[in-house]
Amino acid sequence: LGCITARINLCSNLSITILSLSHPDSPNIPSSLEKISLDGHFSFDDVHHAARDFGNRYRFLPSAILRPKSVSDIAATIKHVLEMGAGSELTVAARGCGHSLQGQAQAHRGVVINMESLREPKMEVHAGKPPFVMDVSGGELWINILHESLKYGLAPKSWTDYLHLTVGGTLSNAGISGQAFRHGPQISNVYQLEVVTEWWIETVSAGKGEIVKCSEKQNADLFYSVLGGLGQFGIITHAIISLEPAPKMVKWIRVLYSDFSIFSRDQEHLISAENTFDYIEGFVEINRTGLLNNWGSSFKPQDPLQASQFNSEGRTLFCLELAKTFNPDEVDIMNQEIESFLSQLSYVPFTLFISEVSYVEFLDRVHASEMKLRAKGLWEIPHPWLNLLIPKSKIHVFAEEVFGNILTGTSNGPILIYPLNKSKWDNRTSVVIPDEEIFYLVAFLSSAVPSSKRTDGLEHILTQNQRILDFCETAHLGMKQYLPHFTIQKEWRAHFGPRWEAFVQKKTAYDPLAILAPGQNIFQKAI
Ligand code: FAD
Repeated sequence: LGCITARINLCSNLSITILSLSHPDSPNIPSSLEKISLDGHFSFDDVHHAARDFGNRYRFLPSAILRPKSVSDIAATIKHVLEMGAGSELTVAARGCGHSLQGQAQAHRGVVINMESLREPKMEVHAGKPPFVMDVSGGELWINILHESLKYGLAPKSWTDYLHLTVGGTLSNAGISGQAFRHGPQISNVYQLEVVTEWWIETVSAGKGEIVKCSEKQNADLFYSVLGGLGQFGIITHAIISLEPAPKMVKWIRVLYSDFSIFSRDQEHLISAENTFDYIEGFVEINRTGLLNNWGSSFKPQDPLQASQFNSEGRTLFCLELAKTFNPDEVDIMNQEIESFLSQLSYVPFTLFISEVSYVEFLDRVHASEMKLRAKGLWEIPHPWLNLLIPKSKIHVFAEEVFGNILTGTSNGPILIYPLNKSKWDNRTSVVIPDEEIFYLVAFLSSAVPSSKRTDGLEHILTQNQRILDFCETAHLGMKQYLPHFTIQKEWRAHFGPRWEAFVQKKTAYDPLAILAPGQNIFQKAI
């Protein structure tokens, strides 16, 4: 029989792959897990929940969900899976919020660890003297970290655009947002990790499922392997992250460009200027009717009359998005600095829109959109996202083909585009980035609306994504995927390039049986 694959057609253009649980040769996995002594517990009857993610396209049913109350629950579970040996097909996936796109936090017939259940250690802010840091659990949400650190007037330095993600989930990728040009990604802002790993297996045989602390100074190889390591080397149970004094307010600015070269030139100028903005991103707007009105009352145009006449229909525009943080006693100096920087930019003059919001409101901005989409039933739909890192030397070729040819009619969601600088990324981590000092994140954040027109159906978006990927390959752009997804090992080899052998060696050292994060589809557990 093997495993049974069911392809369920939910509507004409949406299908989801479900792999079934039953296997005639499987040992009785749930009863073997029930014997483990835990502070938390396993559940076996609500496993469907762990077979879903934000991408809403891949569903792999696990055998059990572990809801750990302690780090030792995780260690005991890993130890048990290791003791079952290579003969068992049991694997383990940590699941943050399951905001992955293609089943990366799922484990077919394995154990999914619900990291949000792990509430130890309790969040603790060290606010005495710099460097300010915070101890957090690997399953903690960034939004909770923000609220807790603000009680001490502090906040993390580097963010993602959306804060309802876990520490372990973003540190397994990179964690990128508009602050990364200054502070680097989130993986550049971690002091120490605690990791449950099987890495002592060769040296201390009794220590299987050991909990290890690692940092730049202690077990450095494990520390850097885990950062950006796609969950392949251990389960992050605890992190010490870097904080800075938190500002109270934010000036949030948008300006438009019709010429990509001028837009990218200004972005690159800003990320390398001294005392520049605190957040620099950008996005592409394709054929949006009433674009400026859609920004709503929160954004005020500097020249309302001219802005009201601005016609975005049928055009491809590039929006530079900036933020400057400040405290109420710094308003004058902040306004002068903003004015000075804006005067150096070449945007379409009357498309300057400025808004003033609290720091929390700014950082948690995507959650407001989430609530609106949830209310309309448009959150839990397929998200065929594509996130690419394109070297600066090729971004013009890329923009010309993708925005001028492949995506001419419309887009199916936001398209982010902003430059990052390699010098802020630590090349000892596992994350793969292009080999140039400046590279762009281009994120196609598409939603496939069920039963909708042909142009926003899932199949159409996937075809468009494939055209973009094919172009990158044939034009030799040196593109790397962020939140990468590949189906065969040959593609993973190509993704890692000259770093592939080192990645395999680390896997052999820290997870030799390949039990961790099977949903990434990089290594297969040998059975
Ligand atoms: P999951 O999806 O649950 O897990 C991701 C991977 O990490 C899996 O392989 C999992 O097994 C592994 N993992 C999870 N926890 C641990 C742990 N404790 N130890 C070891 N491995 C673990 N990313 C950005 O960088 N910048 C953004 O601005 C950004 N915006 C986003 C906006 C939205 C609306 C969404 C849905 C995602 C966004 N992301 C962004 C992507 C996000 O970083 C990834 O989805 C990431 O996987 C974090 O999600 P998660 O915590 O739910 O992790």
